Amino acid sequence: MAGVTLDTVRKIYAGNVEAVKGVSLGIEDGSFCVLVGPSGCGKSTLLRMIAGLETISGGEVKIGDRVVNQVEPADRDIAMVFQNYALYPHMSVYDNMAYGLKNRKTPKDEIEKRVKEAARILAIESFLARKPRQLSGGQRQRVAMGRAIVRKPQVFLFDEPLSNLDAKLRVQMRVEIKRLQRALGVTSIYVTHDQVEAMTLSDKLVVMSGGQIEQVGTPSEVYRRP
Ligand code: ADP
Ligand code: ADP
Repeated sequence: MAGVTLDTVRKIYAGNVEAVKGVSLGIEDGSFCVLVGPSGCGKSTLLRMIAGLETISGGEVKIGDRVVNQVEPADRDIAMVFQNYALYPHMSVYDNMAYGLKNRKTPKDEIEKRVKEAARILAIESFLARKPRQLSGGQRQRVAMGRAIVRKPQVFLFDEPLSNLDAKLRVQMRVEIKRLQRALGVTSIYVTHDQVEAMTLSDKLVVMSGGQIEQVGTPSEVYRRP
């Protein structure tokens, strides 16, 4: 396992848009950190830089003791869960979950063991042969999480993973994500614009605004009434 450290991290997009303006933050090993703030405040850009899906314009991102600025996404030991699930439509649930492990040349019996274990934890064992289009939104979101779990990464990154689900399912999945994170003890960074989600999930809550951190603390510190 590993914590994540950001040191004056910046992102300047083409056209001189400064989306992230020198963010410094320590996320402890095994903890759950939520980045919250209005649309356009830079949350997703920050997460994508940690994931390696965006280049870093300035500063340093560390996973454990390792500076990952120049490290390819596949070599960062992270797994990301997206809002649109990013499942491969032509592959079965099993193959979707196994895909990342196959790419890493994991032995077949080890892949099978990990996929089945994750499927059991997520209660999707009976859907392994189906295609994503044969699943409900909540089931697809579980498969997306399964794909992250099987990798046994040091860090989970979540980019608004529940925003396509209806209200009831969001509450249910929120509880499941929290339970999973606790059980696996994986350092997690979660982006949302939903304050209730942020409050229920986080150990550390980071409020962003205009590319900067506005407030950091436990949920009760951040949302304490003056
Ligand atoms: P959030 O996730 O908080 O909604 P984003 O990180 O998506 O915010 O965006 C932060 C800022 O960067 C916004 O002003 C957005 O328009 C801009 N931005 C995001 N992606 C790009 C891009 N690929 N090129 C240029 N500007 C971008
Ligand atoms: P995996 O995570 O399955 O090993 P990669 O390493 O190729 O696959 O992908 C890196 C990240 O990009 C992963 O977090 C994965 O979920 C995401 N990803 C994979 N395929 C897509 C896609 N078609 N669209 C968007 N994101 C994707």
